[in-house]
Amino acid sequence: MTEKDFYKKAAIYWANVPATIDGVLGGFGNFSDIDIDGSRAFLNKVLSSANPPATKLALDCGAGIGRVTKHLLIHYFEKIDLVEPDLKFITEAKINIGDDVTKLGTLYQTGLQNFRPHKNYDVIWCQWVLGHLNDSDLIKFLSRSKEALSKNGLIIIKENITTSKEVEYDEDDSSMTRPLELMTKIFDQVNLRIIHSDIQYGFPEDIYPIHCFALSPVQ
Ligand code: SAH
Repeated sequence: MTEKDFYKKAAIYWANVPATIDGVLGGFGNFSDIDIDGSRAFLNKVLSSANPPATKLALDCGAGIGRVTKHLLIHYFEKIDLVEPDLKFITEAKINIGDDVTKLGTLYQTGLQNFRPHKNYDVIWCQWVLGHLNDSDLIKFLSRSKEALSKNGLIIIKENITTSKEVEYDEDDSSMTRPLELMTKIFDQVNLRIIHSDIQYGFPEDIYPIHCFALSPVQ
């Protein structure tokens, strides 16, 4: 498949998904609370460690309907910017966030493969989206993100990971799930170091394990 088709197919998939929690979680809407609980514990650990990031500005990447922003990031950061290619999701995110809308910064309607950060971020949160980038675009996106971090800033990644040691391609949503070995190889290539990691508990046993990484630029 060409690169163009890989991105186009994903865009078509998401265009046909309803702007709901169950939609963005591929039918696992019931697990949103448990996911957010795990993320909160992880973020608490990150923010209470030595030399934590500031809490002025976060970026929610592949934000969907703003689920992570609304239930997690808004409670920690003064402002949150969103990157999300699908317009109906962005529209729903603004509605969803409701009274806290003043905490929303810039909403960028674009794919991460095209996104160039123009601000410095304390935390760049990427959840269930990096499988939509091919390896080359993922490496470039992480490099740009690294350059856009403020002092002590971190990239936080929460993604499915294969246990087969192989990349697995999903025909439905045109995404790939990577093995841990490839993820860590890519982090090394970009000079990002894992300073905290965790595995999300409480999801069904028969789906991909969900790993959380906090990455800091190698000094
Ligand atoms: N992170 C959110 C949404 C996950 S669903 C959450 O956890 O609730 C995956 C999201 O990634 C969808 O909103 C989809 O539109 C978006 N997406 C798909 N391809 C993308 C790309 N190339 N760049 C950025 N976002 C993308």
